[in-house]
Amino acid sequence: MQGQKRVLLASPRGYCAGVDRAVIAVEKALDRFGAPVYVRKQIVHNIHVVTELEAKGAIFVEEVDEVPEGAHVVFSAHGVSPAVVNAASDRGLLAIDATCPLVTKVHREAVRFARDDFEILLIGHQGHEEVEGTAGEAPDHVTIVNSPDEADTIEVRDPSKVVWLSQTTLSVDETMETVRRLRTRFPQLQDPPSDDICYATQNRQVAIKKVAKDADLVIVVGSANSSNSVRLVEVALEYGAKAAYRVDYADEVEQAWLEGVETVGVTSGASVPEVLVQQVLEDLAGAGYRDVEEVRTAEEDLQFSLPKELRTNAAGARDDRALGGRSRG
Ligand code: SF4
Repeated sequence: MQGQKRVLLASPRGYCAGVDRAVIAVEKALDRFGAPVYVRKQIVHNIHVVTELEAKGAIFVEEVDEVPEGAHVVFSAHGVSPAVVNAASDRGLLAIDATCPLVTKVHREAVRFARDDFEILLIGHQGHEEVEGTAGEAPDHVTIVNSPDEADTIEVRDPSKVVWLSQTTLSVDETMETVRRLRTRFPQLQDPPSDDICYATQNRQVAIKKVAKDADLVIVVGSANSSNSVRLVEVALEYGAKAAYRVDYADEVEQAWLEGVETVGVTSGASVPEVLVQQVLEDLAGAGYRDVEEVRTAEEDLQFSLPKELRTNAAGARDDRALGGRSRG
């Protein structure tokens, strides 16, 4: 016997300030300089966003040596190491740095602690672009800690001079567990000066925790390489969702997932345009889930100004406008 079908829509969800800024940076660069504009790596980890920008004339490359000399190249929101900046400069590229300011903050912390000769335990996923960029600021001082289990085995040079930093898009709970285990082994472990896991990651996790406890199924819209989206699936399961799946597009939602389901929780990662969530909601409405209740746990109004390379308009005058006008969950 099926009860009342409903959707709990998590909020905040979707675009964060850093993603918004990075996507607009590519669009502005295309307007200003004309196509093609090269982008090193995916500007943000969302296949829909990347496909749309490609259609407008962006060319995504893995490394700067694929970019023709003298061309414009945008560095993605995840940040780059100094080695990449230097390689672009050596090639005569005109770089536009769309690194999220909250990632840049972690880079600065790494530089500062390395200067003071600390060993930096960087909690994050080996191979993720953000981790590569941050570690590249001080490669001789950084050790990457992938998981709580790794905290039990990691070795340091001098246990009295260690600090932990982290990737911005991790699970808050898992990171705290990693720190707890690190501190058991290294009691003098220092904390970062402020949270490295960013406001957007934290807010989306808090919202889905509240939704998950009442949800038979949680659908997270986001791409497979989006760290914060994948974390939302894990957090939903941990906090009581009976099932949780990640999809890029609405048509990936399988009918079988909805069998016997009364309450569907919906959210999206920080790199996901709201239109993709609305398509999921439309399909759910078609399946009888027309009652949509928003579960809001925070308000977000943070905006970042454009990368400095785009802060003058075509006539050379300063253009310091904050970003705005996009829906942000
Ligand atoms: S998820 Fe956080 S760190 Fe990443 S771009 Fe968004 S605001 Fe910046």
